Amino acid sequence: MLDITAQWFEQQVLQWIGERKLHGLGGGLPCNTCSRARRGRYRIVNGKRRKGCPIALRSTSQPWGVDGLDETDNLKLQNANRCFEVAFRLLRAAILAGLAVWIENPRDSILWLMDQVLALRDLVPPDRFVEVNFSQCCFNSPWLKPTKLWLFNCAVRTREDAVAQGFQRCISKRLKGGGSWCPHLQKAHLTLSGFTGGRANTKKAAEYNSDLSLAIARLVRG
Ligand SMILES: [Zn+2]
Repeated sequence: MLDITAQWFEQQVLQWIGERKLHGLGGGLPCNTCSRARRGRYRIVNGKRRKGCPIALRSTSQPWGVDGLDETDNLKLQNANRCFEVAFRLLRAAILAGLAVWIENPRDSILWLMDQVLALRDLVPPDRFVEVNFSQCCFNSPWLKPTKLWLFNCAVRTREDAVAQGFQRCISKRLKGGGSWCPHLQKAHLTLSGFTGGRANTKKAAEYNSDLSLAIARLVRG
């Protein structure tokens, strides 16, 4: 796997941006440390930490990390922060060079509250920026997963154009006994909360399916 925090990587991508060898840059940044699904607390039983819901590493008021994390969680946070710092520098350079740039994360991700992300919007005039909120089931994912996309210098110029290309919010119906019914899929959404076999269900939905990948490519290139 490529380590984007390696010094050569950042320098190489900056060089490609400067030489205009890239059509664009996409930032599907890892959301595992930013997720609102992390809402557990540390629980120590008989001197050992009990496994359960992962604890929140960030908060609205401390998007770069909360105080009081244990060594394992702090390492996870610092690794993610180093990744973000590189990604934000590269995305900023690409936007300033006029390249097409997009950023994706869950709609409620704490990523969207980071000053470095918010500052990216000031780099382009309003007509070169589009924000889209949509549900991934609209692209045939079995889960709803509310998602946000920010697009800079891309072919799509208005939110309405993105909506017309399928980037819509699912208007689901609550089902008795839990879950929700999807009018696109014509069945219940797969739930992403909780764990299966010790693995967070949200991990299953971290990748884009091919329908969504193609749709994003169309927003970027037209
Ligand atoms: Zn749906």
